[in-house]
Amino acid sequence: MQKRIVFATGNVHKVKEIKAILGDNYELTGLAEIGCHEDIPETQETVQGNALQKARYVVEHYNVKNCFAEDTGFEVEALNNEPGVYSARYAGPEKNADANIKLVLEKLQHKENRSARFRTVVALILDGKEYTFEGIIEGQVQQEKSGTGGFGYDPIFVPHGETRSFAEMSSEEKNRISHRAKAVQQLKQFLETV
Ligand code: IMP
Repeated sequence: MQKRIVFATGNVHKVKEIKAILGDNYELTGLAEIGCHEDIPETQETVQGNALQKARYVVEHYNVKNCFAEDTGFEVEALNNEPGVYSARYAGPEKNADANIKLVLEKLQHKENRSARFRTVVALILDGKEYTFEGIIEGQVQQEKSGTGGFGYDPIFVPHGETRSFAEMSSEEKNRISHRAKAVQQLKQFLETV
């Protein structure tokens, strides 16, 4: 029988993308299917903390047994790894990607070190036990934006070994190498062993 797992996201595109990666062994559902339409609290100080908080919240409040959640942060070395857990709302509560990028570029203006990374943590609760999986991609922050694809900080991030920003790649190209893909691949490998 297929094991039922809830993916704690309201984003139907993410559910579809991860369904394709996980294959048919699991019946994957999003939050809408379990009647959850509220904003799940994300008040921790690390992406791992937030991912765990979201998965635990769904298990505790929605009579769900198996659930995973993910959280991502953009870490810029010269900014003490900011924006990190505050990536979505770095420049303010409006969660404006352009304003966030502008702020990062301003703060980096006189810095030589432009190293940065995306970090995704997937937190899984399966049969009462908790597991976390991490995906990281290292790269550089460009001097200015380029490309129109992707979202968030993609227009200023060039992964190591690449000359184009994430926003200049097709979604297939980005999804092959991204932080999120790496974390979800680990989740997949783990689920294949249980
Ligand atoms: P979330 O945890 O997926 O909601 O991501 C939080 C924030 O991190 C987003 O609002 C974006 O600003 C940023 N972010 C997450 N994933 C990516 C990505 O793949 N590319 C660019 N920015 C991202």
